[in-house]
Amino acid sequence: MVIGGGIAGLSAAAALSSQAKVFVLEAEEQVGYHSSGRSATMLHYFLGDRLVRALTLASRGFIENPPHGFSDVPLGHSMPVLIHAREDERQALDALEIEIRQFADLDRLDSAGVHALCPLLREDAAHGLVDRHAIRLDAHAMLQGNLRQLRNRGGELHTAARVSKIERTGSNWNVTSETGHAFSAPILVDAAGSWADRIALLAGVRSIGLEPKRRTIITFDAPEGTRLDKLPFAKTIPDELYFAPESGRLFASPMDEVPSEPCDAQPDEYEIALAAYRMEERTIVKVRQIHSRWAGLRTFSPDKHPAVGFAPDAEGFFWLAGQGGFGLQTSPAMAEIAASLIFGSDWPVPEVAPAALSPGRFAAKHA
Ligand SMILES: Cc1cc2nc3c(=O)[nH]c(=O)nc-3n(C[C@H](O)[C@H](O)[C@H](O)COP(=O)(O)OP(=O)(O)OC[C@H]3O[C@@H](n4cnc5c(N)ncnc54)[C@H](O)[C@@H]3O)c2cc1C
Repeated sequence: MVIGGGIAGLSAAAALSSQAKVFVLEAEEQVGYHSSGRSATMLHYFLGDRLVRALTLASRGFIENPPHGFSDVPLGHSMPVLIHAREDERQALDALEIEIRQFADLDRLDSAGVHALCPLLREDAAHGLVDRHAIRLDAHAMLQGNLRQLRNRGGELHTAARVSKIERTGSNWNVTSETGHAFSAPILVDAAGSWADRIALLAGVRSIGLEPKRRTIITFDAPEGTRLDKLPFAKTIPDELYFAPESGRLFASPMDEVPSEPCDAQPDEYEIALAAYRMEERTIVKVRQIHSRWAGLRTFSPDKHPAVGFAPDAEGFFWLAGQGGFGLQTSPAMAEIAASLIFGSDWPVPEVAPAALSPGRFAAKHA
């Protein structure tokens, strides 16, 4: 039984369904309604730290070459990622280059190179680092591909099934939804995103201290004549602004990290204005009219690494949480890891130590 029909829950359910009977319980009427449907949908190595980069690298092959029949459309397309810096930010760019070169081929750009790749940036963008092999993901295709694989293998999805009661009796977890439907299974996978700690509390399992943080995105028109198809995903070296082409327009985020309760996140006027302000500060774009806006939650564990594995304090309770701002691009590796731990097969990502992902690492802090 998997609780949560976002990318974490669906990818784990699809992987587990190769050897087990699996069903997913999703509170909303559709999958991917929360974080998984609100992301910036990039795969690149500038996100997170070394562990996140290793999980991303381990996921990339699946995204580029999903199994036969997984999806009718590609799970992403190539889009360069450009990290740009002013003269006074150069040192930070140098340090980042050394770290990221271990994972990706990068080109170092001077001012002319930066502006050739992204003519929208202001003149003071003097230095750049570009990964020309980054991927713009298709979140819908990823969600639907996993769902299709789950169903092809006999698994089930129950939507509008918000879990409100969880009990362990004998060797089973017994779960009841708000609508009164009952479900039962020996293993419960908690993939409830921002609500994962709440699910643990319902089950009487020690929480791990997850922190949901809101992030805002706005869309608006690019200046007349902009070749949108040529633009990269462009990010400032400090976490202040990113923007990229989006369905014939541009999107931008001020990279806000506002602590939030688990909820249907809504954009706040301040962050909307900040996105427009920073866009005008760093680029030549005038944000005359905001076409659309949304916010989503990025949920972090205390050490900002995901938690995957059985809870140390409850038999059959399996954590799959804390995917922060990298949950789409790491989902194939995380799903494989979940399956390896549940089925007792070989650890699939040798570059990452199992202990670094184990939910048990938070136990001492909560004891
Ligand atoms: C603005 C933004 C930009 C991002 N950019 C990127 C990016 O470029 N690349 C990247 O890889 N990642 C990115 N992310 C992060 C990524 O979106 C998340 O890490 C990922 O979607 C988390 O997936 P999830 O399945 O854990 O959570 P969710 O998608 O939120 O799924 C959890 C599900 O659990 C369900 N649920 C909760 N409680 C219950 C209950 N009681 N009963 C039943 N179901 C329940 C919820 O309804 C929800 O559908 C971004 C996120 C945001 C917000």
